[in-house]
Amino acid sequence: MGFEYVPIAFFFGLATAIIGRGKGSSFWLWFLIGGLLPPLGLIAVILYRSEKDEPERQCPACGKAVKLYVQVCPRCGTDLYLPDPAEVRHPGVR
Ligand SMILES: [Zn+2]
Repeated sequence: MGFEYVPIAFFFGLATAIIGRGKGSSFWLWFLIGGLLPPLGLIAVILYRSEKDEPERQCPACGKAVKLYVQVCPRCGTDLYLPDPAEVRHPGVR
């Protein structure tokens, strides 16, 4: 530890921040976490539940994938009601 720690912390901070931002969270918050706790911060951000894991379904009118809680399609403006459970997709679950 010492001088060599700095680029490692920077690298982990940057990687953590990029993943965090990609999940719709704060870039600088995750940069700080990843820099202070290099391996743990990176693991935490990977496990962090993202907006992208929300269940989604397809708009029946235009086919756009929208989140389950969205009530009006952002592309075509169709009113969306609670869908058939068979149409619900879980992108975070494979
Ligand atoms: Zn639509």
